[in-house]
Amino acid sequence: MSEHGVNEAARPLLRVAMLSLHTSPLAALGGRETGGMNVYVREVASRLVAAGVECDVFTRRIDAATPEVEPLGGGARLIHITAGLVAYLEKEALPPLTAAFADGVEAFRVREGLQYDVIHSHYWLSAAAGEALATLWAAPHVAMFHTLGEVKLRARASEHETPDRLEAERHLVHVLDRVVVATEHERQLLRQLYRVPTDRVAVIPLGVDIDRFQPGDRFEARAALGLTDDARLVLAVGRIEPLKGLDILIRALAEMTERERVHLLIIGGDDRAAGEVTRLRAVAASVGVADRIEFLGAVPHDRLVQYYRAADAVAMPSFYESFGLVAVEAMACGVPVVASRVGGLTSTIADGRTGYLIPWRCPEPFAEKLDTLLGNPWLRDALGANAARSMQAYSWQAVAATLRGLYEEVVAEQRSLKAAPLAAGNASSGAA
Ligand code: UDP
Repeated sequence: MSEHGVNEAARPLLRVAMLSLHTSPLAALGGRETGGMNVYVREVASRLVAAGVECDVFTRRIDAATPEVEPLGGGARLIHITAGLVAYLEKEALPPLTAAFADGVEAFRVREGLQYDVIHSHYWLSAAAGEALATLWAAPHVAMFHTLGEVKLRARASEHETPDRLEAERHLVHVLDRVVVATEHERQLLRQLYRVPTDRVAVIPLGVDIDRFQPGDRFEARAALGLTDDARLVLAVGRIEPLKGLDILIRALAEMTERERVHLLIIGGDDRAAGEVTRLRAVAASVGVADRIEFLGAVPHDRLVQYYRAADAVAMPSFYESFGLVAVEAMACGVPVVASRVGGLTSTIADGRTGYLIPWRCPEPFAEKLDTLLGNPWLRDALGANAARSMQAYSWQAVAATLRGLYEEVVAEQRSLKAAPLAAGNASSGAA
């Protein structure tokens, strides 16, 4: 077994199989299905080894030219598993492939002669594959759903979620050793929606790379991006989908005073976002602000810092965010965020101190708060400085260390259950 992390010498090394079936942590960000979850898996996996956990991440192969095993940084590996057609497939086509994916992971494990102590799944499709592996390996299984179908439905009535997904999530939350969520709010949702006991839910806030996302000179950033010094710049970053509520922001722009001085930059979206971009452009045209908005498409994660620094404010008008990495990245760069009062945003943004929280689906209060920030540079800077300070508490290293603790806990629980089969029978009925 390889040696990692001198500080961990006294603790036994664990090995985790991390499942990210439908999307790779190395995929370009900002596409329809590539955002916070990809960042999470990449950032956490590449820090787990230093925290004393060997980490193999498994994703479904979509390109025959990719090597089977790729380095993920920090000693973690990404393994491409063939399950179904080797091509990008819509998420709707993936549920029947979860068993083949689990078989592929098992074949790799056997070939490598490895044993995994714990399974950590991301999104319900991975958790469905992970359930089969957990049984096969008699290993504990923790999962993060990132979003739950039921929560999305409640946040935005028009959104469609497949019965497959809703049923699988309802089942999975009760067979997992832990559901990992980013906020206490989500823990309460799991209790209310599915009666998941709170001690089966681990709350682990996400992180931000504060070495990459840190405050910098606004005007240097604008010069680097070819933007004018005197523009009032509002920025929105994320996957382009209705859940992100960009139409609210566009309508808010139309309500702003001096709107002819305001520029709204929207970052994110790939070819498959074209339909939604067309819809948003039509909304902008209908409220007379088409010429104030620029859709920049996806920007690589490591180039985003310049955009955050250049902005006067970042807006996040989402209908729901389980955590909202964009908000913490912007705040780490010293930029106040004006966001919907939903999900994880309510725990990362301190209303009136590091940004503003707005009741959702309301353009007018967004316009009002953006006007306040753009019209008062000292206030913008004060909130931005508070925001940057408040983000010092978030780090991916801390997330990795907390996950190690959780893995140890579930492994110990599993061992004690194996040692006492009668107690195991009693305990397994606890979450029904
Ligand atoms: N992102 C990026 N480039 C883009 C759009 C998004 O790097 O063009 C990143 C963004 O910086 C953030 C993640 O994708 O780290 C989006 O995460 P968030 O939690 O805000 O939203 P989610 O995708 O989970 O809905």
